[in-house]
Amino acid sequence: MIIAKSQKDMEKMRAVGELIAEVRETLRAMVAPGISTLELNASAEKMMRDAGAIPTFIGYKPRGMSPFPFAICASPNTEVVHGFSTDVPLVEGDIVSLDMACTLNGFVGDTAITIGVGDIGDDLKQLLRVTEECLMLGIEQCWPNKRVGDISAAIQAHGEKHGYGIVRDYTGHGIGRSMHEAPQIANYGRAGTKEKIRAGYCFAIEPMLNVGTHETKTLDDGWTVVTADNKPSAHFEHTVAVTIDGPEILTLTKSQKSEMEKARAAKNAA
Ligand code: MG
Repeated sequence: MIIAKSQKDMEKMRAVGELIAEVRETLRAMVAPGISTLELNASAEKMMRDAGAIPTFIGYKPRGMSPFPFAICASPNTEVVHGFSTDVPLVEGDIVSLDMACTLNGFVGDTAITIGVGDIGDDLKQLLRVTEECLMLGIEQCWPNKRVGDISAAIQAHGEKHGYGIVRDYTGHGIGRSMHEAPQIANYGRAGTKEKIRAGYCFAIEPMLNVGTHETKTLDDGWTVVTADNKPSAHFEHTVAVTIDGPEILTLTKSQKSEMEKARAAKNAA
């Protein structure tokens, strides 16, 4: 069952969304040659706890798996998702996917970003750009009376247009009091299929695109997912609320929200 959020719940989703967005933007600014993902993880955990939030990933334990040990998933280069933080410094030309979630007042916000370390090549720049575009195209489908398959189809069409492998083994999801609620939101699928979207639903939409094959494998640590062909992968994610006026991205910082407001006002005035 998909849980529609009340106005009160939605306020809490907004608060946690803004907090996790602040964490994401802080990490984005920290990423540079020489920093390790363990340092990024420590900063993220401190920001969450200082704000009175719980790092949702720590101890997260799906059936049959070991508890996840870190506040963020840090997945460089050929890692797709669920990577462990390490003390290995990032180097110029790397990309690193950072996925993070926290729980505040009982509600979860979830976001991910792939960042270039220093100067990255044009091929990687395009991978990052197209993956983020897929995310935004998926979000644009989040209107009442559309269907979950519309989100999936929009992501798939754009990713495949650019020749990328679209990861099938991991999906987006409903989100609220639990990090993973119904429905599953695949990054491939047919428009007009799956659940009807209604106002009050909150979704975590998270396309993962690979330069090569869409296939993945999991390393011996039981968590780290890598591309089957050892080519690079990117991941972008927002938590989004469906309103009667369309999608509202919850995982934006205050300043990102006011920038978007300004852009919308300018567009309306034109
Ligand atoms: Mg997620």
